[in-house]
Amino acid sequence: MIRFKGILLEDNYRHQGLRKRLIAELEYKGISDRKVLEAIGKIPRHFFLDSSFVEFAYQDKAFPIGEDQTISQPYTVAFQSELLQVQPMQKVLEVGTGSGYQAIVLMELGAKVFSIERVKTLHSRTKELLHAMGYNPRLFYGDGYKGLPSFAPFDRIIVTAAAPSIPDMLLQQLKTGGILVIPVGDSSGIQVMTTVTRQTDGSFIEKQHGQFRFVPMVENKK
Ligand code: SAH
Repeated sequence: MIRFKGILLEDNYRHQGLRKRLIAELEYKGISDRKVLEAIGKIPRHFFLDSSFVEFAYQDKAFPIGEDQTISQPYTVAFQSELLQVQPMQKVLEVGTGSGYQAIVLMELGAKVFSIERVKTLHSRTKELLHAMGYNPRLFYGDGYKGLPSFAPFDRIIVTAAAPSIPDMLLQQLKTGGILVIPVGDSSGIQVMTTVTRQTDGSFIEKQHGQFRFVPMVENKK
């Protein structure tokens, strides 16, 4: 039970049961990383939606979180988390904090999370919610295209908005052996989930992992 904006939020047996079903659905759809499934099993996703939409929280769907933004579909969160191959204590940069749900999945995987959001109201609201839930990732209000040069390099970087191309600034902030996961493509259409791995000789290997649809990655703060 937590208190957020004066409202008590509880995580009861019904929610836990719905989460079990969601996990079975994600497994059925091809997610096999036990740690990722366990993380999703622990986190009350209904805390991230407006309380009147609790029934939607455990459906495998994206959902509006205000400011024209969405909390990503659980399958997408699981798929990106799986591709990221996070190890405990790794430094992970997320671009697009949004609701904070993906950030918490990364924390449950043991990562040290740094997350950037360009919409001020979302940044502030999410900071408050995560704090109330007892999570304290480093949350930044800023433009994710720039990454966080003063905290770089990162073991992992995950972008949760559609990027027209792979931002060079993010590649520069990736450690050797590091992995970037990013949906690349025109924001009005579909994007291709892409991983980029930084090799010891400084070169990058790019791989593609199917089509997804994200809200656009936008330059400059709001
Ligand atoms: N990871 C989020 C998904 C949110 S949707 C979650 O789990 O809920 C993508 C988010 O990226 C939106 O909140 C949007 O405002 C943000 N965004 C878009 N362009 C950005 C940029 N250049 N820098 C930082 N955040 C950005």
